[in-house]
Formats: sequence, structure tokens, C-alpha cells
Amino acid sequence: MIAGAGTVPGLPGFASIPVLPKGKMTLRFKPYTLSLKHVFTIATSSRSTTPVVLTELEFNGVTGYGEASMPPYLGESHDSVMQFLSKVDLSRFSSPFDMENILHYVDQTAPGNKAAKAAVDIALHDLTGKLMQQPWHRIWGFDATKVPPTSFTIGIDTAEVVRQKVKEADEYHILKVKLGRDTDKMMISTIREVTDKPISVDVNQGWKDRQFALDMAHWLKEKGVVFIEQPMPKEQIDDNAWLTEHSPLPTIGDEAVQRLDDVLKAHKVYSGINIKLMKSTGMREAHKMLVLARALDMKVMVGCMTETSCAISAAAQLATMADWADLDGALLISNDVYKGTRVVKGNVVLSELPGIGIEKI
Ligand code: MG
Repeated sequence: MIAGAGTVPGLPGFASIPVLPKGKMTLRFKPYTLSLKHVFTIATSSRSTTPVVLTELEFNGVTGYGEASMPPYLGESHDSVMQFLSKVDLSRFSSPFDMENILHYVDQTAPGNKAAKAAVDIALHDLTGKLMQQPWHRIWGFDATKVPPTSFTIGIDTAEVVRQKVKEADEYHILKVKLGRDTDKMMISTIREVTDKPISVDVNQGWKDRQFALDMAHWLKEKGVVFIEQPMPKEQIDDNAWLTEHSPLPTIGDEAVQRLDDVLKAHKVYSGINIKLMKSTGMREAHKMLVLARALDMKVMVGCMTETSCAISAAAQLATMADWADLDGALLISNDVYKGTRVVKGNVVLSELPGIGIEKI
């Protein structure tokens, strides 16, 4: 049953079939700044806030929520997202269920602007899910209890801070450790003094030499590391492919894999891909990436930026089909504005609410 729709006579055994509702969609958006609980350092930068833009898409009195998150190194900003969204005119569409056409139009509005596009896509999915009165994981036919436990991210830091963060991450089953500077072995050895739980590492393109990367992969395997994310610069395609062929650990392309057409390019270069809504332009293309990666027998990780529970809950709908989940983005901030998908003892627990499953706090 579609909320707010009329009905027409149905097949034998069915009382009626809902009619697709028609009306006007109104897109609203506002800038917001997330405060991070800790200064966050990766191979290429440090920061303590993340700009986001929160969107609302209203149709016949039902509102879908969306979000764009713009870590500065990706090139989008409050200004660029606000500018992009002000160009989007959804009045040309009479039904939110015209999703393929709507999102094609949004994509064609301007090149790039991937987070801004995701902010429309997520709100549209939330809206249509609410109109169908079902969460998207159920619409897609995924098992909500199958989300892998989320990793908890530990940034590059001193041994003392790393030890402290490992203690804070006590309830998580897998740690994600940022590497790529000259302290890599210190970081891992420090963690191993405190815990033997599985570790994934994210090098953020920080290793430049393939033999060095392979030596590190062997050393990391001995230390109980389970995979390596974006070991070398994405431009070093041959080196990444060589590493993947020889590495005792799976490699995952992140910076190298943004949208659907990158999945084919990543085949045989990496063992798997890291899908993030802010790279893929949202849930629709992310779903296509997941299906394609599976068809190519590649591993799939669903990741995030620092985001509110809005974008995290949207990603969690897909993460039910992933090998690994990295959905700690909302746990790293102190001023979330939604509640939805929760992390309970390191496990990702989806809400049963329709759409992306969130409510305003
Ligand atoms: Mg990464």
C-alpha cells in the first residue's frame, strides 16, 4: 500500500492496487557543521569539523531526509552544494517514483558535485520508502540482521593516544587503522600490545613503492590485519594490480572507486571496492555498484564520511550485503541531528522505520 494514494480494482485475491500518487516535490536544504569528538588525522590532512548540508524533500505532506557530507579534501563545500541544489528543479516531475529519470536529471545538472547529488538521492529514497511504508533494505530484499559489525576508526596519532583510542573502542569487533605515514609499524605494534582483535588498515594512498607495500602486507598479515584499503596512489594502477596479485591480504579500492564506471576499472586492480554514498552520488548508484562488484566476484565494503545518522542509516540499508562495514561516521561527531541506525556493542542495528529509517532528534 502506498501512503496517500487512491486505489484501483486489483487481481483476484487482492482487494485493490494503489494508484501512484501525483503532486509537487519541494526540496529544502540548509548548511550545518559537524563537530568531531577528536581531531582526525589521516595520511594527507587533519581536521576537527566537517561541513554538511541537510536536505528535505516534501511531497503530499510526507518528508524525506537527505544529507551531503563534504570532507574538504574531496573538493565540495557548503557553497558548492548550496549552489548546486539551488539549480535542481524537481517541479518538472509529478511523481517521486520516477526515480531513474529524476536522478538522471539531477546527475546531468552539473558534473562532479557527488555529495550534493547524494543529498537529493538519499532524500528521494527516504521519501519513496516512506510512501511505500517500508525500509529500503526490505524493498531491496536484504536481510537487516546480516550487516557486518562496523569497524571503529583510529587516526594516525602518538602511541599514548592510540592506546587510549583502542580502550574507547573496546566494544567494537574490528578496528580500522589509518596508515600511510612513517609511523605505520609503531601504530600497529602499539595496538597489538593492547588487543588482538582483527584490524583493517587504510593507507589512503600513502605507500608509493610496490615492493615496500608488499613487504608491509606480509608484515601486517602476521599482525592479524584482514585487508588493506587503498595502499598506493590511485594513479599507480599497475602497481596496485601487482600488489593485489601478490599480496597475502585482500586490497580494497577507495579513492580509486567513486562511481559505477569505476567498478569495472577496479576489477583485477583491487580485490574489492569501498562504496560510499558521498562518492557514488547516493543509494541508487551505490546499489548498482554493489550488484556489479558481486557479479565480478569482488569484495564489497560499505563505508562513510563523517556524517549524521541520516547518511549513515542510508548506507546501512546497503551494508546488509557487504563483506565489511565501516559505518562509524555518526559516532565520531558530538552534534548529530537524527537517530536511526544504531551501533550496539559494535554491531550495526537498523531501525524498522520506513525509508532510510530515521527520525529527527
Ligand atoms: Mg578509505
